Amino acid sequence: MNCRHCNHKLTYVFADLQTCPPSNAMVKPEQLNHPETYFPLKVFVCEKCWLVQVDELEKADAIFNNEYTYFSSFSTSWLQHAKKYTDYMTERFGFNSQSLVVEIASNDGYLLQYFKEKNIPVLGVEPTANTAKVAIEKGIENIVDFFGSNLAENKLKAKADLVLGNNVLAHVPDINDFVKGVKIALKPNGVNTFEFPHLLQLVKHNQFDTIYHEHFSYLSLTNLVAIFATQGLDFFDVEELPTHGGSLRIFAKHKEDNSKTIEPSVAAMLAKEKAAGIDTLEYYQNFQSKVEKIKYDFIEFLINQKRAGKKVIGYGAAAKGNTLLNYCGIKGNDLIEYVVDASPYKQQKFLPGSRIPVLSKEAIEETKPDFIVIFPWNLTEEISQQLHYVKNWDCKFVIAIPELKIF
Ligand SMILES: [Zn+2]
Repeated sequence: MNCRHCNHKLTYVFADLQTCPPSNAMVKPEQLNHPETYFPLKVFVCEKCWLVQVDELEKADAIFNNEYTYFSSFSTSWLQHAKKYTDYMTERFGFNSQSLVVEIASNDGYLLQYFKEKNIPVLGVEPTANTAKVAIEKGIENIVDFFGSNLAENKLKAKADLVLGNNVLAHVPDINDFVKGVKIALKPNGVNTFEFPHLLQLVKHNQFDTIYHEHFSYLSLTNLVAIFATQGLDFFDVEELPTHGGSLRIFAKHKEDNSKTIEPSVAAMLAKEKAAGIDTLEYYQNFQSKVEKIKYDFIEFLINQKRAGKKVIGYGAAAKGNTLLNYCGIKGNDLIEYVVDASPYKQQKFLPGSRIPVLSKEAIEETKPDFIVIFPWNLTEEISQQLHYVKNWDCKFVIAIPELKIF
């Protein structure tokens, strides 16, 4: 296997999470007698360009299909984040009714709806037809396809004042072609922003559950500078965000565009990453043992509660939980009775691999569990507030990452 950016041979393993099914492949009741397809989940680091990456074992279209069940609008804090972004960008760059905002992986229109409210023309590019359908019902124009240089050349050439993508850059198998598409789509003075979980936070906070098949690359400013520069794009600003356990928002422009000042934040972030050792092999080689410790602590907790006759359930049927459960080898609902999720698209289905049933929130009141494992630890505050009523029967919350915590 060679690096998807620089083609250097990959030999160094960053994390080996064994095998699991695609994280969003929920199992329907009628599929319970069918087998599931498991893929190895092994992450390498390129010692030449420092891109951290999983092997492309499955075609992207097999993962992001009509069964794809992640609807961005079901998270209220994410909606607030999107709204704030549109206010900030409109003020900073002066977008108006003559501009065009293109969002890649626009999902159900959770973000573009706020630009539309400001009368700024928008266009979504979204490969999953069922989420795009929801956006179209909101009146948001969509191209239902994967973004790349071909699509940009045919439909978006030099048309966009802003090309944005939240949590998509890491999900792209051919990252070189994808960034090339951004270069093609941008107007000469256009702005590009991407948000993605920061590799620096992943390593620092043991966030191995953000590793899953749909997530091809693990990104830092250091490994992105080369990828963008190859396509003629420069960074002119970078911000740290609290979302998804610590994300970066990068601002890119055409190399030829001299109308924007390169902020000191860019050099400062590169220096911060270098100080952490992001361009040394040692940085990546200690991660696996930390991951294994989390696995043993979590399994030990579940077995101890089972032996004590306690009821443990989970909250949040998302990718993070599936990585954790599959890596820990949890099968069936003897240790975790069920998982609740607010999305009706997931309820009455079963988690991929572990096959733990997904129920609606009402099940909590009815069954009064002793422990609720919060799988999306990045939403711990939001979820524990929503569920504060479980304290009436002394129920405790649990997170497994960055380390086992009961509260
Ligand atoms: Zn490389």
